[in-house]
Amino acid sequence: MIAFRLGALLSVAMLLGCAPADGPKTADRSATDDTTGTHQQERRRMVRTQIAARGVTDPQVLGALRAVPRHEFVPGAPATQAYQDRPLPIGHEQTISQPYIVASMTALAQVDSTGRVLEVGTGSGYQAAVLGAIADSVYTIEIIPELARSASKRLDRLGYGNVKVKTGDGYEGWAARAPYDAIVVTAAPEQIPPPLIRQLAEGGRMVIPVGPTGGPQQLMLVKKTEDGQIEKRRISAVRFVPFLEDAQ
Ligand code: SAH
Repeated sequence: MIAFRLGALLSVAMLLGCAPADGPKTADRSATDDTTGTHQQERRRMVRTQIAARGVTDPQVLGALRAVPRHEFVPGAPATQAYQDRPLPIGHEQTISQPYIVASMTALAQVDSTGRVLEVGTGSGYQAAVLGAIADSVYTIEIIPELARSASKRLDRLGYGNVKVKTGDGYEGWAARAPYDAIVVTAAPEQIPPPLIRQLAEGGRMVIPVGPTGGPQQLMLVKKTEDGQIEKRRISAVRFVPFLEDAQ
């Protein structure tokens, strides 16, 4: 039901995921604690005005967005920019998604405290940290080695011990840790990679932007039913960076 409601809301405006960077440019893992002790006001305001106001109601998701110190994930930008309603550059022509799309994708994935989650496209590690604040364990893959290394260090430093990062091509997923209750993909392939569908648990959900670079992309919700059937639903028009093919 959350997905349906979000779908209706999300269609109102183009969502900026890890959008191409053409625009302006801890913590305990508990979703309610903020051991950094800074920028809490900005986070509360961000959640109230950008996320709850647009219809994301899942308390776990709102709690995670209030807890994860987003400014730590965009070291090149002033802290106040980190809490604005937009994606921001994180180097290597990649971006951290707009807070609302992180919240929306997390809500669509319906992660819970027992869940095992795969993320493709670690980037700064922010989406992984949000997932890690809710789920039991998060496995995240990044194709650009420098980004994987810096995200891994950052997540360790902030205390997200349940998030594991590896460098590689997320097209293949992370078979050794499969199956996953949820898969969140934060770069847009032209087609849904079949290995990711295989690695989804029965009853699992995948949230993935699909479409050509610079062309129309759709955020899709893919469910694997308890009897292994695949159901796909279009959620909204989005704009994400392309899914890269080769490790650089
Ligand atoms: N989720 C990130 C931002 C995502 S930007 C965050 O919260 O900061 C998209 C990321 O996907 C980029 O870092 C890009 O390098 C990565 N990426 C693109 N293609 C990939 C692939 N095939 N496998 C793994 N990562 C990929």
